[in-house]
Amino acid sequence: MRVCRKRLANFGIGTLVSRRAALFVLSALRGRTRSGVTAIDFALSEFQLSLRDAVDKICARFSDDYWLQRDRDGQFPEEFYRALAADGWLGVCIPQAYGGSALGIAEAAIMMEAIAASGAGFSGASAVHMNIFGLNPVAVYGSDAQKRRMLPPIASGAEKACFAVTEPNAGLETGKLQTRAERRGDRYVINGAKIWISTAQVADKMLILTRTTPVEQVRKATDGLSLFYTALDRRHVEVREIEKMGRKAVDSNQVFIDGLEVPAEDRIGEEGRGFEYILHGMNPERILIAAEAIGLGRAALRRATAYAKERVVFGRPIGQNQAIQHPLAECWMELEAADLMMRKAAWQYDQGMPCGPAANAAKYLAAEAGFKACQTAIMTHGGYGYAKEYHVERYLRESMIPRIAPVTPQLILCFIAEKVLGLPKSY
Ligand SMILES: Cc1cc2nc3c(=O)[nH]c(=O)nc-3n(C[C@H](O)[C@H](O)[C@H](O)COP(=O)(O)OP(=O)(O)OC[C@H]3O[C@@H](n4cnc5c(N)ncnc54)[C@H](O)[C@@H]3O)c2cc1C
Repeated sequence: MRVCRKRLANFGIGTLVSRRAALFVLSALRGRTRSGVTAIDFALSEFQLSLRDAVDKICARFSDDYWLQRDRDGQFPEEFYRALAADGWLGVCIPQAYGGSALGIAEAAIMMEAIAASGAGFSGASAVHMNIFGLNPVAVYGSDAQKRRMLPPIASGAEKACFAVTEPNAGLETGKLQTRAERRGDRYVINGAKIWISTAQVADKMLILTRTTPVEQVRKATDGLSLFYTALDRRHVEVREIEKMGRKAVDSNQVFIDGLEVPAEDRIGEEGRGFEYILHGMNPERILIAAEAIGLGRAALRRATAYAKERVVFGRPIGQNQAIQHPLAECWMELEAADLMMRKAAWQYDQGMPCGPAANAAKYLAAEAGFKACQTAIMTHGGYGYAKEYHVERYLRESMIPRIAPVTPQLILCFIAEKVLGLPKSY
């Protein structure tokens, strides 16, 4: 099996997908007990292992020094983006009819975990995150003509897109969005401001949530919002980069929109139902962010463990001390536990089952475990952990991102308390 896996890993995603059907039958047969009941299988399938190997091979071409350099100069990792695009990886979740590979969120999560764990961290994962799942509202709610127009360039990497929801005066309260899209004949005119919009410096397109019906005229504050996927026309959209703590290679921005004309055919689905469409993609997005946080935590743990074996103080490797071993062992367990929750959520989503509690729990657990692993990695390195050369300080700065975005730990706890435990809504 090992040889077979190695052989498969030499191909791009196209070859892998065509072999998938045969492997799927094989693994389906393996997953059945004698009584015919499908058993829980914690192992990755042969196909998934091949996918992981193939992505690992691409990531291995981008060294820690490459990512450190991008963290210094803030340049978008274009070579990395192109390498994944060239082998067809950017369309992993996009339907085959529109240039993608139509794989599940479980496979996309394996891919994103592999990218982050390679040492690319969030600089690598965020560079392609939007291509992987960002256009889900178009794939699910777009018309056939829209899908034919919008999805293939994202699957091939020919176009980059950004996702514009957050606003300075609304924060997590999406119902308070103020950016307006006004209908004028066969077009809409958008005015307003967004904040924290990642990749807006390099994006060709923008998926944007705007208000089309004033909040006073709707039943619920989240009604009356509409979703557009449209050209980021810089004559009407000013993009101002935010100087931030980490992930300098993938920009985040203030975006000011002044009279942006959008053809009506760029509206996704029905007017006024945009929030509902965004909501549909939130669980899989949390699953992917969880996978990325776990990958980053594993990269940190790998570096810390290697250092603990090498560094000799008081005549022995520091890793021989329980005070160094135990926090590392704890990080391993917490990352594994988060990984199981993440894979449960991905499995539920791919089966078409409700996955809100598992997806939110996975995002929370993975972000906290990833952060703890990065922090522990610095402490294991002592003073050297504070030097950029050892990479773990960069990881720690990036590990704050999945804690904050796309939703904070507090709001996830509120969700679990209310929706799972049945406690009264607190906000
Ligand atoms: C690096 C980065 C990249 C990002 N990229 C994007 C992007 O591409 N597109 C996009 O649209 N957005 C993006 N975001 C925005 C991100 O999703 C938001 O920052 C996040 O949703 C939190 O919103 P906020 O910052 O406005 O926090 P606020 O809503 O102002 O909340 C501030 C704090 O108060 C807490 N809080 C608020 N209400 C309650 C309550 N009822 N109970 C308990 N605690 C509460 C929150 O948990 C949080 O800790 C990005 C953010 C970062 C940092």
